[in-house]
Amino acid sequence: MQVKVVKFGGSSLADAEHFRQVASIIKADPARRYVVPSAPGKRFKEDIKVTDMLYECYEKIRKHESIDELYEKIKERYNGIIAELGLDFDISGELEYVKNAMMHRSGRDFAASRGEYLNGLILSKFLGYSFIDAENVIFFRENGSFDEEKTNRVLAEELLQHHQAVIPGFYGVMPNGTIKTFSRGGSDITGSIVARAAQADLYENWTDVSGFMMADPRVIENPCAIDTITYRELRELSYMGATVLHEDAIFPVRYAGIPINIRNTNDPSADGTMIVAETGNYDTEKVITGIAGKKGFSVITIEKDMMNSEIGFGRKVLEVLEENDISFEHLPSGIDNMSIVVSTACLDGRRDKILAAIHRMVRPDHIGIEDGMALVAVVGRAMVKAKGTAARVFDAISNAGVNIRMIDQGSSEISIIVGIEENDFDKALGAIYGEFVK
Ligand code: ASP
Repeated sequence: MQVKVVKFGGSSLADAEHFRQVASIIKADPARRYVVPSAPGKRFKEDIKVTDMLYECYEKIRKHESIDELYEKIKERYNGIIAELGLDFDISGELEYVKNAMMHRSGRDFAASRGEYLNGLILSKFLGYSFIDAENVIFFRENGSFDEEKTNRVLAEELLQHHQAVIPGFYGVMPNGTIKTFSRGGSDITGSIVARAAQADLYENWTDVSGFMMADPRVIENPCAIDTITYRELRELSYMGATVLHEDAIFPVRYAGIPINIRNTNDPSADGTMIVAETGNYDTEKVITGIAGKKGFSVITIEKDMMNSEIGFGRKVLEVLEENDISFEHLPSGIDNMSIVVSTACLDGRRDKILAAIHRMVRPDHIGIEDGMALVAVVGRAMVKAKGTAARVFDAISNAGVNIRMIDQGSSEISIIVGIEENDFDKALGAIYGEFVK
């Protein structure tokens, strides 16, 4: 029998009406056996996510302020859902326990995680599914990293005991028994971990958009949705800021070769986007799969005559970055010069120190830092097969009057990355999109 793991985001579980919609999606396919919920999200634009309210409770407690009023609002959210669903379930004991535990300093992650925990309890009652508390099956190591092997072993065994279950997203447990969460949006990661442990045929990630868009809808009006994308393409796009799925959610399912299907809870008939390991399906018409970009980069430029023949030059420069705990994004180099693209934020407060250290190490003729760069990634598996894609990207950008400051084509040939002025960001994105999507 097929097994599908289904994860529902916060907006898909924001109120009773959405709970009903979610239940009807789950019940429509008996393969949808394991369900991972987020905490209730926003019901309308100005609404506040339960997770954010819980973080605020934590802060108030830290500052010795009362949380009574704020916690009432959290209680109202859950009680409201239960009442409107007509569920025979009294959650007041749990709510009191959570409040008390927070007041007794159970930690920031504990506070945040209760959004998923409480929502998971309600959803399991509503569906008539077992409830598996993530604190018993998702493990972190002493150093805070996720323990994939222990988790996979224990979780797989636990899932075997339940034909259908709800496992709250976002958190797990540290070796000392305290609760730890993944980073924000981390229920996506839990879904992926559960899919791997269940050896699922498919990981369905239900959200409030009909899949992954070819470009950010805040920049490109009404972009086309992507129907199929490979994990590698998705990594490139998510790294460059395309959000829909948490970046770290890809690894567990990729490891197990399980496809992910991004679906829209508010439009279940739409196929959404399939994320797969490999596909023979190349869009030779559009050629590109998607475009994404980020602002906030700086370039450290180093010039020195005969640099190319100086053995160990690059290593010495990179050592300085390593000592300062800075990772670099790109490293475009010429014969007598080397540029290092880093995020501007990581240079904060240590620019002079870094410049001085590089100076000491390699005695360059010139060294400087330029800020205000944006990176745009044009990603597409079909680029390997289509000639002239790079030329089309550069032409489109230059025809829009935008100056290219850096070019980098990954060796895998599935992405072309260009560096441009931050002010030209929207223009460049629009030009590239217009060139490939007619
Ligand atoms: N509720 C958490 C957040 O708001 C995790 C999630 O929704 O995936 O970040």
